[in-house]
Amino acid sequence: APILEARSLVKRYPNGDVTAVDNVSLSIKPGEYLSIMGPSGSGKSTLLNLLGGLDTPTSGEVLFQGTPYSSFPSLDQLRATHLGYVFQSFHLLPTLTALENIQVPMFEGPRSAADRQAAAWELLKLVHMEHRARHSPLQLSVGERQRVAIARSLANDPQVLLADEPTGNLDSKNGSEVLDLFDKIHQQHGVTLVVITHGGEVADRAQRLLTYRDGRVVGDERR
Ligand code: ADP
Ligand code: ADP
Repeated sequence: APILEARSLVKRYPNGDVTAVDNVSLSIKPGEYLSIMGPSGSGKSTLLNLLGGLDTPTSGEVLFQGTPYSSFPSLDQLRATHLGYVFQSFHLLPTLTALENIQVPMFEGPRSAADRQAAAWELLKLVHMEHRARHSPLQLSVGERQRVAIARSLANDPQVLLADEPTGNLDSKNGSEVLDLFDKIHQQHGVTLVVITHGGEVADRAQRLLTYRDGRVVGDERR
């Protein structure tokens, strides 16, 4: 059974009369590494936000493990505990340390302060950032910021990680390191990955490549 499914998804923005997602149906299996590639403005972010329950469709629906988002008693709860998000511009809190940023999503759950600390250290190790635990995001390079943001996205052990141009602000060396981390998260932790890109290395690494144009899926290639 699919872990994530889109059925006849439509998103229309009334102002400007834009159809960013134009009748998209899509089925994502557990453990897949899917990349969505398309030009700027084609609607990729809108599609990802719908898949992640961050935005509501004009029509159609998204299902997580067979249950429509509209049927979940708390979509907030689903988002916090089963889905992880990585953005192009990190969205870390500048007044918190790296170690504290990683713990922010953990406040959704019942974990003790000691458990949160221990889990955050493990995640810092996973992204090779222990040496920056007490630093503010402002003191980190952009590559390091994204590694911390990835650690935070894994705070509640999500089944699916949704990433919107995660290497968009990084040079190729830092970009490759972030993609190495995604490979590790995919291979060693079995997380389903959905990663948006406008091309390049992300598209090369994914096992399944969806080509997107003007709100429509125009290619769906597995390799
Ligand atoms: P991409 O991620 O491929 O660059 P987006 O999903 O960001 O594409 O945008 C798709 C289209 O929808 C664009 O024409 C954009 O201007 C428009 N759009 C995105 N968000 C909004 C919004 N909140 N209100 C109106 N139009 C929007
Ligand atoms: P592991 O060996 O822990 O399974 P990798 O060696 O594949 O993981 O590293 C995952 C990511 O972390 C890659 O982007 C890699 O470049 C980066 N990395 C590895 N070691 C370090 C380090 N000591 N400091 C900073 N980044 C590192």
